Amino acid sequence: MSLAQYRHWVFDMDGTLTLAVHDFDAIRVALDIPPEDDILHHLAALPEAEAAAKHAWLLEHERELARNARPAPGAIELVRDLHGRGCRLGILTRNAHELALLTLSAIGLDGCFATEDILGRGEAPPKPHPGGLLHLAERWQVTPRELVMVGDYRFDLDCGRAAGAGTVLVNLPENPWPELTDWFVRDCGELLGIVRSRDGAPNADPGALSR
Ligand SMILES: [Mg+2]
Repeated sequence: MSLAQYRHWVFDMDGTLTLAVHDFDAIRVALDIPPEDDILHHLAALPEAEAAAKHAWLLEHERELARNARPAPGAIELVRDLHGRGCRLGILTRNAHELALLTLSAIGLDGCFATEDILGRGEAPPKPHPGGLLHLAERWQVTPRELVMVGDYRFDLDCGRAAGAGTVLVNLPENPWPELTDWFVRDCGELLGIVRSRDGAPNADPGALSR
């Protein structure tokens, strides 16, 4: 399947559609989380009151980041182009749903996603769990193979692989996870170029950037 054939696109948000601003190491220090621990898994295992307090801190911290979000190169153009073609678009983020709405509005993409297609950490198990993608496939009444997952981290790729979706890695100088990546592109701008250039010839896959 070439990229232009996909009609169902799911995006990671932070660092994929926006410039990466999360300092996860600083968050771990502030919340007393060991460097090697997954933040959301760590919080989930804490006693209820402590977990609630730390989730509240995280939400406030991320709210500030959301308000000041800036689009990643080509992200606005890509999402608007796909939306204009009538593709179904979803967000699968480990951020909170309300902050995803705030972020998308801050970068001017809030009109391109249905609210129910924006899955945050409260709506889906955190990536790399494939639950969010499977949920969207069911909502859109397509098989997971008809989805493509776009992200900037291995959790996005793992999640896509586990669901059986196509995977696209963006916004990294090199690809540390080639075995998990179907397409590796510089950024969303390059991705848009590929989608557009293959429009007329969906099976003409030069292979250079693909699996
Ligand atoms: Mg990300």
